[in-house]
Amino acid sequence: MNEGDYELETLAVRAGIARSQFNEHAEALYLTSSFVFGSAAEAAARFSGEAPGNIYARFSNPTVTAFQERLAVLEGAQCCVATASGMSAILSTVMGLLSAGDHVVASRSLFGSSVQLFGNILKRFGVETTFVSQTDVAAWRAAVKPNTRLLFAETPSNPLTEICDIAALSQVACQAGAWLAVDNCFCTPALQRPLDLGADIVIHSATKYLDGQGRVLGGAVLGRKEVIEPVFAFLRTAGPTMSAFNAWVFLKGLETLSLRMDAHSRGALELALWLERQPQVERVYYPGLPSHPQYALAKRQQKSGGGIVAFDVKGGRDAAWRVVDATRMISITANLGDTKTTITHPATTTHGRISPEQRAAAGIGDGLLRIAVGLEAVSDIRADLARGLAI
Ligand SMILES: *Cc1c(COP(=O)(O)O)cnc(C)c1O
Repeated sequence: MNEGDYELETLAVRAGIARSQFNEHAEALYLTSSFVFGSAAEAAARFSGEAPGNIYARFSNPTVTAFQERLAVLEGAQCCVATASGMSAILSTVMGLLSAGDHVVASRSLFGSSVQLFGNILKRFGVETTFVSQTDVAAWRAAVKPNTRLLFAETPSNPLTEICDIAALSQVACQAGAWLAVDNCFCTPALQRPLDLGADIVIHSATKYLDGQGRVLGGAVLGRKEVIEPVFAFLRTAGPTMSAFNAWVFLKGLETLSLRMDAHSRGALELALWLERQPQVERVYYPGLPSHPQYALAKRQQKSGGGIVAFDVKGGRDAAWRVVDATRMISITANLGDTKTTITHPATTTHGRISPEQRAAAGIGDGLLRIAVGLEAVSDIRADLARGLAI
């Protein structure tokens, strides 16, 4: 299909389909680890790269290829490579593009495992990272060194939904001769397309909203051909490849992506507005609220606010735990991007291992709760939270 002629909702359903000889209507799932050749000459041609085609599932698989092509179209990317998880997408990016002696500037508010990867593991291999405030463009610019090769951001951030200005950071990256990578996990291309705003690389944890139903792990890296080729070269050698089964689940997940993201956003906004009116709630963090400090930027950069809402409960840890423990329906889990609403207390879970001083600097108070709004009726989510807030 000629992709330029169609809207995102249509492409999410129809892009990337390569039908087999059986003309199946739904996407086929190819559960095979290897592929056969018609002759010795054909085998040689495929291995040398002279002839296109599949060889071995660590390199490629038709179901995985279909997922890569569909997601690439949705992000407006030239190329996409699928990975076993979101973290292996980030690892493959840095292993493909960076070398010892290179420097990274990253947001201080990255996903916890990303902070560990950049702050501890990569450091052992001679890649240094400077962490800066998510929202302070001048701080990103000031952190750039002659050997800076990568700027790494995630927007909105978890759990405080801070927004970074992708277009402004892309200018900093451009002046530094570095790539800008954006983890687009929270928005997905249904709400935000970082490449259109000047980013060079988009990273996904497909585990979250791309699946959207809490079933399988996966990830993806997207960008121009010359950026993705070395990432793929690492992946096919080192092996954190997406499984065909998971790619098939993600293909089906993408078909409902826009519908789900709109519903998550609608529910989250309604819940955030209600939370703002509760006397026991001190502050609500949601990019779709006019009270969000970067409301104007969020409106420019995102189609809507997304599904994540955080709020401070008056009374610190005890009051926050009471809200969590009074829920009967909402799942107490740190996962997000599911049809099922989840609640987490960051100070004692996802951010429990950093010092109280670091938590305070990051704005993560003892009364903070994070909700990933699912697809249940908002009135039921509200009632579940009201019980603990009323105590
Ligand atoms: C979950 C998550 C990741 C890691 O993804 P996995 O699929 O769990 O490896 C990376 N970035 C963000 C923003 C996430 O929420």
